[in-house]
Amino acid sequence: MIEVRDLVKVFDARGHEVRAVDNVSTKVARGEVLVVIGPSGSGKSTFLRCLNGLEQLDSGSVSIDGLDLANPKTDVNAYRREVGMVFQHFNLFPHMTVLENLCLAQKVVRKRGKAEREAKARALLAKVGIAQKADEYPSRLSGGQQQRVAIARALCMEPKVMLFDEPTSALDPEMVGEVLDVMKQLALEGMTMVCVTHEMGFAREVADRVLFFDHGKLLEDAPPAQFFTQPQDPRAQAFLKQVL
Ligand code: ATP
Ligand code: MG
Repeated sequence: MIEVRDLVKVFDARGHEVRAVDNVSTKVARGEVLVVIGPSGSGKSTFLRCLNGLEQLDSGSVSIDGLDLANPKTDVNAYRREVGMVFQHFNLFPHMTVLENLCLAQKVVRKRGKAEREAKARALLAKVGIAQKADEYPSRLSGGQQQRVAIARALCMEPKVMLFDEPTSALDPEMVGEVLDVMKQLALEGMTMVCVTHEMGFAREVADRVLFFDHGKLLEDAPPAQFFTQPQDPRAQAFLKQVL
């Protein structure tokens, strides 16, 4: 469903180039859950941003169901409608209620009528366990609740794939579980997901494959049972020693 081929993304950092994503190829099948891990600066966020068209690709290609981002004829907005993204900082609109946050893109992008978009929004709020917060402003919710709103907002667009960039890293420890539970539920329902996370328990339990990045390179791509017990690359071995 997602195909990444020879992807390269270079940044210019004060005169010298940083190969943030360095010749990465992989595929994600429908319903698969990938967990992406690696040291800080290894290119995890840049990789995700390339998957949803937030970055101009330097070379290589990224496609979803044959819609190719590298093809200049591809409508990037049409491509991005298929991809939901959730960030570390929830990025909710502070001046809008939870319900309004969930309805905005449905109205502007999907052109849904009021009744339809509100019904969708309420159904998804119920799904993530915060139906009663529809009319609150984001600042009156806990971090865990805000992140669940952000997930529900992305789901309102009925994306083919969900991307998560450290969705629990900004949360107090007691709120991590409620967000991971929502993600786990989504995975069980068959959502295709690519998740950057430091939650190794989630990776072990939920991931179909773990991808390990270092210096922009994809060094390991293996099922968790294999990755966590017998990582092949020395840098993956060293990384695991630190985090486990
Ligand atoms: P972290 O775990 O800290 O979030 P990461 O694995 O997500 O790190 P990226 O944010 O993808 O790493 O960054 C990869 C490399 O690209 C880093 O060297 C970073 O400094 C560089 N980089 C990222 N974005 C930019 C940018 N907009 N301009 C210049 N360099 C950038
Ligand atoms: Mg990052």
